[in-house]
Amino acid sequence: MDFKEIIEDIYKKTAALKNKGQIASYIPELLKIDPNKFGVHISTIDGFNFGIGDYQDKFSIQSISKVLSLSMAYNIVGEKIWKRLDVEPSGTAFNSLVQLETEKGIPRNPFINAGAHVICDILLSHLKNPKEDFLTFVRSITQNSEINYNTKVVTSEKSVGYRNVALCNLIKSFGNLDNEPSEVLDFYFHLCSLEMSCQELSQLFMYLANDGKTIDNSQQILTKSQSKRVNALMQTCGFYDESGEFSFKVGLPGKSGVGGGIIAVHPDQYVIAVWSPNLNEKGNSYKGMCFLEEFTTKTELSIF
Ligand code: GLN
Repeated sequence: MDFKEIIEDIYKKTAALKNKGQIASYIPELLKIDPNKFGVHISTIDGFNFGIGDYQDKFSIQSISKVLSLSMAYNIVGEKIWKRLDVEPSGTAFNSLVQLETEKGIPRNPFINAGAHVICDILLSHLKNPKEDFLTFVRSITQNSEINYNTKVVTSEKSVGYRNVALCNLIKSFGNLDNEPSEVLDFYFHLCSLEMSCQELSQLFMYLANDGKTIDNSQQILTKSQSKRVNALMQTCGFYDESGEFSFKVGLPGKSGVGGGIIAVHPDQYVIAVWSPNLNEKGNSYKGMCFLEEFTTKTELSIF
């Protein structure tokens, strides 16, 4: 399979498309990003790496970090994690409050904001220095000490995070947070502010293509079964109320963020990361989705 030629060809075609959608304007700091940035990077299980466009630019990974926080918490507490949250698609927006009320503070899944708050709460209860320890965990997966939080994005999001505040307080009122909402939110906003490039992301997430092990096989981030389950959750819940559409058009487990990034995993084959900041109305990268649809169509490498 000539990934390089296929990616170059689809990149050219996708770059020429009208850049529909909008940058996530509700986080003021994200509005500073050039909407025409566009990068792609693939890492394969047999060691092939290729990037094109702005694949080395760092951007705000936002909700992609929810896969990392879930992985860390799952590794620490194991299956009892599912007592605190469910594994069902929500069919609602990432920041929706509706289901939480009727479902008594148990979030539908770890990839909507409410679910990520519960995961942050679990990590806060288990880590000595949560922000430092989380960063160390992420950096150690690829031995990459360049990965950092962006405190400007943290401050910016805190200044407008009314929905997240509401979600956390609602969960707390049902007794599903052990820590104070303000501590959970501070940790959550830091995780969302992590900055990485497409190249770093595709290399970092190789453990989900490699049965939970880092690509050099030196670290077991998740057990084989946990890795399968995290992929299953990305398949069914990774794109909020567009998860069905992503499955339908792309056919890979994946996760998006409002910074315009998407990672998609083909277990046992490859991880691909795409970044284009303009988002469609569901909060997922417009060109990122277009690119990935073409990619799995041309390569015939979706999981279906
Ligand atoms: N930090 C963002 C928020 O909480 C993350 C949302 C996202 O990337 N979908 O609103």
